[in-house]
Amino acid sequence: MLALRDAAWPVAVLDNLATGFRFAVPDDVSFYEGDVSDAELVAQIISEQGTRAVMHFAGSVVVPESVADPLKFYANNTAASRALIEAAVKAGVPHFIFSSTAATYGVPEASPVSEDMPKEPINPYGWSKLMTERMLADVAAAHPINYGALRYFNVAGADPQARSGQSTAGATHLIKVAVEAATGKRDRVAIFGTDYDTPDGTGVRDYIHVSDLAAAHVLALEALIAHPERSLTMNCGYGRGFSVTEVLDAVDSVTGARITRTHEPRRPGDPASLVSDPSRIRATLPWQPQYDDLGTIIAHAMAWEHRLAEMRSAKGDNG
Ligand code: UDP
Repeated sequence: MLALRDAAWPVAVLDNLATGFRFAVPDDVSFYEGDVSDAELVAQIISEQGTRAVMHFAGSVVVPESVADPLKFYANNTAASRALIEAAVKAGVPHFIFSSTAATYGVPEASPVSEDMPKEPINPYGWSKLMTERMLADVAAAHPINYGALRYFNVAGADPQARSGQSTAGATHLIKVAVEAATGKRDRVAIFGTDYDTPDGTGVRDYIHVSDLAAAHVLALEALIAHPERSLTMNCGYGRGFSVTEVLDAVDSVTGARITRTHEPRRPGDPASLVSDPSRIRATLPWQPQYDDLGTIIAHAMAWEHRLAEMRSAKGDNG
């Protein structure tokens, strides 16, 4: 949303605030509180705003939770997406961008993984997103709409100006968890699995800075508008992986302290390694990542963590 606003696109936000925060939306951006599956509300917003494109970020994202509660993911990710896509089609919205995921690949047959490799998710999260990709492909073939399915690898960091960042309590994503540990909000980090077939035995992921990912969305929108007959399915990652241990070491070198680590069993639903082949996005969009550096990603996540702590103490809230 900030990237669109910075690029002078008129933008409105719909969020049910289940995990989001009202403060994340600046006062000069129209805000609607509600659910993407509320067809009536979505129709009203599209008509009020004259919406020409939908960027659909809503959904549940924690992989082990999807294993424990698959129906939540098929409701929040698959059924809600179906409702939103239908509302967009009915209102004649010509462009749709969808937050998909590297989890659609399951255990990739090769690394780095490219878009045409087999999609065999190993958790309900990946399936819930892959089903939405399928719906979009079928809908784009039948109706005057094109779409961008952006397969996110591991999104991390925060806005470089500390205007926004991950704020939800009970974080589970590695860099967020590690930064919370480095700033004293938690006392240790659990390493889930040390016996993977990776160089140091811990899981390997392709961590992408959220601002580079946001920039990819703006460029994808421009490409969809320029080529209405073409849809895009693209990996969003840098094409290099870091292990859990490497991430924790990198946090330690940013802070000059050492995070306490514990070794735990593998987490359900986790593949050993997920690294993107970014050739397609590089060939399709004029995308120039600005923050492809683990230390920078961590430093921005850390700055946001400090900002959050200030906001909490200003509110008299220690949580
Ligand atoms: N991970 C970990 N400890 C944590 C959180 C994550 O060891 O507290 C590992 C996890 O097993 C995976 C990697 O870090 O190998 C990235 O996990 P995350 O939850 O950040 O993203 P995911 O890849 O599951 O979407």
